[in-house]
Amino acid sequence: MGYIDMHCDTLMEAMTRGCRTARKLDGTMVDVERLKRSGADAQFFAMFLPQNPRPEWLHMDPVPTPEEMMERMYEIFLQTLKECSDILAPAYCYEDLAKNRADGKISAFLTIENGYPVHGKPENLKKFHEMGIRLITLTWNDPNCFGRHHSSVKEEMEEGLTDFGKEAVSYMNELGILVDVSHLSDGGFYDVAKVSNKPFVASHSDCRALSPSTRNLTDEMIRILADAGGVAGINFEPSFLNEDPSDRVSRVERMCDHVLHFIDKGGVECVGIGTDFDGIGGELEISDCTKMDLLFDALHKRGLSDDVIERIWHGNVERVIRDVMR
Ligand SMILES: [Zn+2]
Repeated sequence: MGYIDMHCDTLMEAMTRGCRTARKLDGTMVDVERLKRSGADAQFFAMFLPQNPRPEWLHMDPVPTPEEMMERMYEIFLQTLKECSDILAPAYCYEDLAKNRADGKISAFLTIENGYPVHGKPENLKKFHEMGIRLITLTWNDPNCFGRHHSSVKEEMEEGLTDFGKEAVSYMNELGILVDVSHLSDGGFYDVAKVSNKPFVASHSDCRALSPSTRNLTDEMIRILADAGGVAGINFEPSFLNEDPSDRVSRVERMCDHVLHFIDKGGVECVGIGTDFDGIGGELEISDCTKMDLLFDALHKRGLSDDVIERIWHGNVERVIRDVMR
């Protein structure tokens, strides 16, 4: 069985390159043709919506607003589904994932990275659900209507969700949209854990005990996430993996260290994959999706059983999809 990746920024790459679809993209880490070769089971495609994007990230002039970006990436997603219907099919819930598998297709889940365009209005959550969005990463690296992003400033890091953020988590539970705490402040994390009556995820975050990045989860957060039935996706970004943030090499062995730490603190059911492909930099041992076998083999060599690797590869995220998405 193939892997489920909870996060990539490939739609943004397609947008900045002016491509109509993500079928074949030169120089990216993911495209649909390579996903097929990689043996992927499902890919979550994020619409990454920075509030204050620097022009040099996007190579676009003028820089589009988050709403304009969302519109363009949504169009690319729809066109990709149309043009790649031989390989890829949309998925909105567990039944879709199962059907796509039976049809020999890779499932595409649509997500938003940064809830900014919700603008504090529940009706926007409803609209996004109708568009097919099934996961929202509540914040990126700026405050928004949900709450505050992760920060090295203690007071900011302790800040919780806004009143709207709390209401929105409950409404997302009801709608069947998965709540994603990656990028969120620690205070926001604890509020999500308190308010959510469904499992939630940290779609692309690693362990803070092994790498001090504020983007990572503390041991206590890992336990709480696991107790809630949630999953964290291993992120391949070197500054989230390495103890020394200036070490810009993303190593497979280090990913295994994080997997084992998640298992040690939260058990075998709390860890999955969240590569962050097309959103990360440095020297990457797994430089694109066709090299995922390197991690699979390394996990075997580190002594994990087939059963445990199956859970990490797809089983745990599949369980959350079944429990939450509607
Ligand atoms: Zn991210």
